[in-house]
Order: sequence, then C-alpha cells, then structure tokens
Amino acid sequence: MMDRLWIKLLGAFTLVILVGVAVTVVLARQGTATQFSHFMVGNQMVRPAALQEVLAEYYQQHDGWQGIDAALDQIILASSGGGMMGGMMGGMMGMTNSRVIVADDQNVVVADTGGRPGERLLSVLADRGWPIEVDGRRVGTVLIDGAMMSISDMQTDSLLGGITRAVLVAGLVAGLVALALAGLFVRQITRPLAALNEASRRIAAGDLSARVLVKSRDELGNLAQAFNRMAASLQTQETLRRNLVADIAHELRTPLAGIQGTVEALEDGIFPLVPENLEPIHEQVTVLNRLVEDLRTIAHAEAGSLALNLAPVDLAELARNQAATFQSLAVSKQVQVVVETPESLPEVPGDSQRLGQVLGNLLNNALRHTPAGGTIRIVLQPKDGMVQLAVLDTGEGIPAEDLPFIFDRFFRADRSRSRETGGSGLGLAIARQLVEAHGGRIWAESPPQGQSCGTGVYVMLPVAQQSVRKSVAGS
Ligand code: ADP
Repeated sequence: MMDRLWIKLLGAFTLVILVGVAVTVVLARQGTATQFSHFMVGNQMVRPAALQEVLAEYYQQHDGWQGIDAALDQIILASSGGGMMGGMMGGMMGMTNSRVIVADDQNVVVADTGGRPGERLLSVLADRGWPIEVDGRRVGTVLIDGAMMSISDMQTDSLLGGITRAVLVAGLVAGLVALALAGLFVRQITRPLAALNEASRRIAAGDLSARVLVKSRDELGNLAQAFNRMAASLQTQETLRRNLVADIAHELRTPLAGIQGTVEALEDGIFPLVPENLEPIHEQVTVLNRLVEDLRTIAHAEAGSLALNLAPVDLAELARNQAATFQSLAVSKQVQVVVETPESLPEVPGDSQRLGQVLGNLLNNALRHTPAGGTIRIVLQPKDGMVQLAVLDTGEGIPAEDLPFIFDRFFRADRSRSRETGGSGLGLAIARQLVEAHGGRIWAESPPQGQSCGTGVYVMLPVAQQSVRKSVAGS
C-alpha cells in the first residue's frame, strides 16, 4: 500500500501527544508526592512511626522518661521531617501544629506539648495512642492530636492515585483535542501537496495547461507558484516548438512544390529538358539552402553554441563594405545608399563576419521595402558608452501592431508579398540572435525619429574598455 503523508503526520502527532500525556502524568505524580511530603514537613506533621522509634531510643538512652518533657519539642522536630530539611523548617516555624502527649507504662503523662505533664491518661485515650516499645516491652504511649497526623502510607497512596487518575483524564481529554487540531493542520498541509501531485501527474501525461491554485504565502505557496511558473514556461516552449515545426514545414513546402511542378512538367514533356528550364529548380534549391543555413544559425545562437571570432571591429569600415556590396542592387532599384559616421568611432569587440551578416540582413530588408527614388542611410554614432548603428529607409514602414513581432522567427507583415521577394521571415530573428550574442540590443521604429515615413532598425553594441579609438573618415 502507498505510504500516505497524512497518516505519517497524524501518527507523529499522536506519538508526540501520547508521550506528552505520559510524561505529564509521571511528572505530576512525582511532583505531587514530593509536594505532599514537603507539606508534611513544612507543617510539622508528625509521623507516628518515626516518633515511636525516636521516643523508644530516648527511653533506652536515658533508661527512663526523665527530661523528656524538655526534650519533646526537639524530638518531634527530628521525627517530623527527618534530617536537615525538617530541622530547618521546624526551626523556622518554631512550634508544632499537633499536640503530642507522652505517657509512661502507667499511663502517667511525662511530657505534653500542650503543657500538662503529671496527669494520668484515661485508659480510653491510652488505647488510642501509639505504643512505645523497647525490647518488646511497652514502656509508654504517645498520643498525637491533629487532623493530619493519622494520614497513613495507604491513604497517601490512594490520594496520589486519585491525583494521577485526574491528571490522566485531563491529559487524555487534552490529547484528544490536540489530535483533532492536528488532524486539521495535517489536512491543511497535505491538501496543497495533493493538488501539486495531481497537477504534476497531468503535466507528465501531456496536459501542460494544468495549474495549482495558490492560496498561502508560505513555503507551500511558493512551491505552488514555482510549479505554475514552470508549467507556464513548459507550455510556452511547447507552443513555440509546435509553431516552429509548422513554420518550417510551411517554408519548405513552397520551394519543394515549385521544384516538384517544374520536374513534373519536364517529365511530361511540357517543358523541353534544356538548361533554361532547370533554372527555376536551381532558384528554389538556393532558397531551400538559405533557409536551412538560416535555421542552423538560429539553432546555434539559441543553444549558445554560436562560435564568435571576437576581434576589434571597425563598424564604419564594415558599413562601407556592406553598402558597396548592395550598391549594384540599389542602383537597379533606383535607391540611394549612404553611410554616415562621425570623425572617430570606437571599435567594438565582435565577429566582423557575423556583424556583417546583421547589417546585410537589415540592408536587404530596407532595399526590399523601399520604392524607387528612396534613400537608405546607415548611420553610426557613439551613444551611452556604446556604438549605435541604424539602418533608416524611406520605404513603406511597418504597421505599429506588427512592430513587436518582427524579430520573431518566421514573422512576415505581409506573407505573400515577402515570400515573393525571397524573404524567409528569419532575417530579423537571426539579426537579434547575433546582436544579443555580442551583448547588444536591437529594435525597430516606424517611422524613425526625424523622418515622416519609412523604417529604422537600431543596433546598440557595447564598446570594450580596452577598445582603441581610431580615426575614421566619413563617407
Ligand atoms: P523577411 O525575410 O520576411 O524579410 P525578416 O525577419 O527580415 O523576414 O523581417 C520580418 C518582417 O518585418 C518582414 O516580413 C517585413 O514585413 C518586416 N520588415 C522588416 N524590415 C522592414 C523594413 N525595412 N520595412 C518594412 N518592413 C520591414
């Protein structure tokens, strides 16, 4: 059978309660006995047996009862508590509470704490007294007058027994109440755990929407919150994974369908098998290759395994080179590309090839979305201890509702048009991954500050402390 936490907890509580009650009963019994004897001593209550013994000794030592009247107080003190304690307490109180009368074998009073020696005891009284015996012979009688004097050992035992029983009953009642409360507490502890257990079971079974209701602010509440966060993160990851697979499948389908169509047309003889008719296949294969390469870059960047060949990078030079690469395309689209850099610009530590890829993606987008007669500016400037690189175009711009998503994988503001122009929807996602791998930040504004139209994509890259300041000519 499965071990249940509530059984264990309740068992532990029961054990603790039982031990508590048992210890209370034992201690109460012992304490009562001690208090009882202290009470006896404190109140100078004589114990007949002890008194009989001491008086017999006195008789033996003095060979009779002479002087007993004067010594009686002392004798009672010695016999009442016995030892130092009794002596001290008796001394403090200075008197006994009980009247003690000692009579000789003829029942003539030889000592009386009530102060009337010499009288004769009535035989009835003598019979109620305690005999004093020496060597088996009755040499006298001691009479003790007082309410408590006759408490025998048996009575003491039954008194203690009664107290023990009362404590036991009280302990059991308290124990039952404590157990009922313990049951409530145990339920409070185990209920959220059971909920957590149920939720984790559902998650393990694939239901990532399972959550736990968080009520308390204690450790269990924190645990439930952490669990919910973990579940939410798992759910997000799962959604992203599903979307990614769907997106990749979608991206692969278009070029593959193109290739398939062309190949079938060639097979059926609709297209003659000449090199020009193979050109569409070549184009689609190129698209597929680029897609696979982009996916590989993203996968590496996300896994943190993207190898960066870090070296001081002169961003102005990088910008001029990229502008030159895109120059012929820009000319054919009648778009002007300009680079604006200050006199001197700090170098940034980075992988020049990867940073070139970032700028290339941004220029590609800008060219794609800027109509003839437009301008694309690459603006570099030091800012807040970093270097800012901005690619600003005068194109169609990005709708405000799309701005938060353009750096997501496979996002396209206008799917059909973008695919026509060859975009995979991964350009900005890759740019973000690469910039972040450099410790930088990337964002977009549309229209950018200072312009009435178009898009601005901004990249901030940190400047290494030891970076060399170098003079760069503007272009
Ligand atoms: P794509 O390969 O489709 O360009 P990107 O990740 O590079 O993918 O860009 C995502 C989307 O952002 C694009 O589809 C486009 O709608 C929008 N976008 C990016 N840059 C620009 C720009 N300069 N002007 C207008 N829209 C842009």
